[in-house]
Amino acid sequence: MQNVRHAYGPHAAVKDVSLEMQPGEVVCLLGPSGCGKTTLLRIAAGLEVLQQGAVAINGRKIAVPGGRHVPPEKRNVGLAFQDSALFPHLTVLENVTFGLETQPPRQRRQRAMELLEQLGMAGYAKAYPHILSGGQQQRVALARALAPAPQLMLLDEPFSSLDARLRDRIRDDTLHVLKKVGAGTLLVTHDPEEAMFMADRIALMRDGRIIQMGTPQELYCAPCDPFVVTFFGDVNELYGEVRGGVVQTPVGPVQGGGLADGTQAQVLVRPEALRVIELDEPPTSHRYSHVIMAKLLGRTSLLHICVHGEDGREVHLHARVPGVFLPAANQPVEIRLDPSQVFVFPADLASAGT
Ligand code: ATP
Repeated sequence: MQNVRHAYGPHAAVKDVSLEMQPGEVVCLLGPSGCGKTTLLRIAAGLEVLQQGAVAINGRKIAVPGGRHVPPEKRNVGLAFQDSALFPHLTVLENVTFGLETQPPRQRRQRAMELLEQLGMAGYAKAYPHILSGGQQQRVALARALAPAPQLMLLDEPFSSLDARLRDRIRDDTLHVLKKVGAGTLLVTHDPEEAMFMADRIALMRDGRIIQMGTPQELYCAPCDPFVVTFFGDVNELYGEVRGGVVQTPVGPVQGGGLADGTQAQVLVRPEALRVIELDEPPTSHRYSHVIMAKLLGRTSLLHICVHGEDGREVHLHARVPGVFLPAANQPVEIRLDPSQVFVFPADLASAGT
């Protein structure tokens, strides 16, 4: 997609998006509600007529404003949307073979059974959709979309109606099948964890634009602005001035990230960046902290901590530590920072991060 823009009346939903995918690559469009993900997917599918920009597959332009518009059924794309309905009067097998009319019946059946097998649904081939659970229906919808071996799969929140446990399994199966058949996939989600699990690359969107595109690790470990940091989870926000290349924060000095001296900096500290060490008694000579509250969340414990800054100010922070770590309220602690989970930006970008 090149310089794609799209407006609904006066409202610009997609503002200037360029996006390139490699064959077989899984790319997730990730972003908050209303940022334009579905619109972009519908443009790729041909369900929206292109207003500005260009869309091409394998170097062939399939949409140009006011010109060529290859209709959805001729784009060789597979579509599965959140509420993709199956045909209720057809069996599971018939649903999956539906798009294969040009092939001989035996081949159609074989192809459909193969996919149902891979998605754990072969045992339901003769069943009708109404007896299937939501998750099973989504698997069949996915098999139906994959059956014609499209070059590109377009999936819009395909797992959103599933409960958490089932969702993990179906995501796993789906990714396995997508990789096995080598289908390039553009998947819409608003769930950062889902995007990180499914994607080779994530395009994080806000307000009609791609803010950053890269591997999950690039976005998580080298976010380009505060919005990218905060989108992947809660963070502690600290402020300070850069002096001698360093920002002094209540939890200690932090490298200024190349910002000029005198810049007001926003320091974003992921809760997992804080290491918490219990002290026998509060140190008298320098800053110290104490626990306000500790909660066990399962695999991690979440601690609310009050830090006493050198200037006498108190700052409240969240720390997330692995396993069961539940110090009592008022327990004196020392805080250490893992610098790889601390991000420094000019403070005037701060408002953009929310
Ligand atoms: P969600 O995650 O909530 O589905 P999204 O990121 O997929 O959101 P879109 O559905 O692409 O966002 O919508 C982008 C913007 O365009 C939103 O502000 C939405 O209200 C608006 N919009 C979407 N479809 C239409 C339409 N058919 N007519 C008018 N406005 C629309």
